[in-house]
Amino acid sequence: MYPTHTPKVTRPYGVPGDYAAGFHTGTDFGWTRPIEIIRNTFRGTVVRVGYDADGYGKFVVVRCRTLRHGTRYAWYCHLDSHNNLRVGRYLRSGAIIGVMGSTGNAFGRHLHYEERVGQNRYGVDARKPILLKARTVSRSLKRQGWK
Ligand SMILES: [Zn+2]
Repeated sequence: MYPTHTPKVTRPYGVPGDYAAGFHTGTDFGWTRPIEIIRNTFRGTVVRVGYDADGYGKFVVVRCRTLRHGTRYAWYCHLDSHNNLRVGRYLRSGAIIGVMGSTGNAFGRHLHYEERVGQNRYGVDARKPILLKARTVSRSLKRQGWK
């Protein structure tokens, strides 16, 4: 059972604001427990593990190849830590990415989850997340093994 604890979208994709791209390029999720485990949304390969002090903090990028949507790069940002991930590691959906944090340019602890159609270009490559549907986030997260 899923008790009172459900992930919430705290800031949706696309809202205009004081971002380098002029809009919010991902979806923000907030939780309430002291430690929140972040899990992979869609099977794929780790292509980047990095740290960006002025932006995304500790982040992990997973390349997902989908039949319906082609290749998507899923970014997990502001992590407190990651699960010893290395580039090239294959992750099933539901695999542990790391622990939610507020590293980098983040107001408070949250997950900035972003999907891009290219590997690197901030802003222009960002798309509305589809591998994880915001409207059905708690259901799809549960299905994918988040706890
Ligand atoms: Zn964000």
